Amino acid sequence: MPIIQFDNTYAQLPESFYSKLSPAQVPAPKLVRVNSDLAAKLSIDAYWLQSPEGLAIFSGNATAEGSEPLAQAYAGHQFGGYNPQLGDGRAILLGEVTGTDSRRYDIQLKGSGRTPYSRGGDGKAALGPVIREYILSEAMAALGVPTTRALAAVSTGETVVRQEGPLPGAVFTRVASSHIRVGTFQYIAARKDISELRALADHTIQRHYPSALESETPYIEFLNQVITAQADLIAHWMSFGFIHGVMNTDNTAISGETIDYGPCAFMDDFHPQCVFSSIDANARYSWGNQPNIALWNLTRFAETLLPLLADETEQATTIAQTALESFQEYFATLYMRHFRAKFGLPDTAADSLVQDGLSLLANQQIDFTLFFRKLTQVANGATKGDWLSLFTNQAEASDWFTGWETETTSAMKLEKMRTVNPI
Ligand code: AMP
Ligand code: MG
Repeated sequence: MPIIQFDNTYAQLPESFYSKLSPAQVPAPKLVRVNSDLAAKLSIDAYWLQSPEGLAIFSGNATAEGSEPLAQAYAGHQFGGYNPQLGDGRAILLGEVTGTDSRRYDIQLKGSGRTPYSRGGDGKAALGPVIREYILSEAMAALGVPTTRALAAVSTGETVVRQEGPLPGAVFTRVASSHIRVGTFQYIAARKDISELRALADHTIQRHYPSALESETPYIEFLNQVITAQADLIAHWMSFGFIHGVMNTDNTAISGETIDYGPCAFMDDFHPQCVFSSIDANARYSWGNQPNIALWNLTRFAETLLPLLADETEQATTIAQTALESFQEYFATLYMRHFRAKFGLPDTAADSLVQDGLSLLANQQIDFTLFFRKLTQVANGATKGDWLSLFTNQAEASDWFTGWETETTSAMKLEKMRTVNPI
């Protein structure tokens, strides 16, 4: 009985979707961290994972039984400009495993060497960004945000050269519901082969949105569900002050999970145009612009599906537009729900109390996390002084506080505030 049971349904798709190849060998793999909880959920023995045999597989030095390693092809809009040929330039999909929840998960190595999609890159990863992705993705999972996960981080004994100079190399094992992106659909749609497009859509529906198959118009229902999942994701992000930083279409997973933790961050001082990535000069991917960009990315996704939505392009376009129109309102509802919970406000409280609270934060550029944390403490019986001390203009804060105080009383609300306002 093999200790890890891989199969690879993606490898059954047309050959144009990927390139089969093995990960690069590394000289001296050493385990940095293994996620035992996640391993258990995937029915992978965490002790075995740390053994020389496990380490060989999760560093790329050995291939597990049933694994058909491949690099996925995709395209993508990066900062608004289309690149027809991206793909896994530094990642290899080892295969899929079935979790204890009976769901299918991709196991992918990131930093595992060059692939046909590497372009000028070395296909490697440095240890720093690997640890960063490990911590951030696990933090997001703990906060209840849909996300890819971290199974293991292994240092390779190699040196990779980056702008900062030579750095220790590493391989990251990423777990995801799948790595199918908007960019995957863009890549296949651009090939203008309807059977390939249908194969990708059917595979993705089967994997992520099987309930769409019950609809009389499964592809329209698929589009609707992807739109809903993105709205849900972005509302989650924003409620934690999270800024993804690189919301390119190739970094937008169809599953609705957060993917690719690059120059992302949790905002400190609140202002809606806050940006962290130094390359995002136009604030395209600022905190407050994320819903607009999600809709822009979804529009690119809908365009790829047009041939499946209706026989006539005009009719298909109308269908896609109608579906996309639902995004704003659905997002706004979820966004308000998240922020009501953060402020500890009941459904009956006026929207303006939430909006004014956020304006107060923005006007004085208050630390986003501390604001909600200290407000939670006030709800827990602390005096308002500690919360008030965050502000320079305390009169403005007191005014809002008076309105908030009259709306907020129950113990249930406090529990809720605690769960959604982490330190
Ligand atoms: P990202 O910015 O991480 O989403 O990556 C965008 C594209 O660049 C993807 O196709 C990556 O696989 C590729 N890429 C990023 N870094 C490297 C690297 N060091 N070597 C090869 N390809 C890379
Ligand atoms: Mg990416």
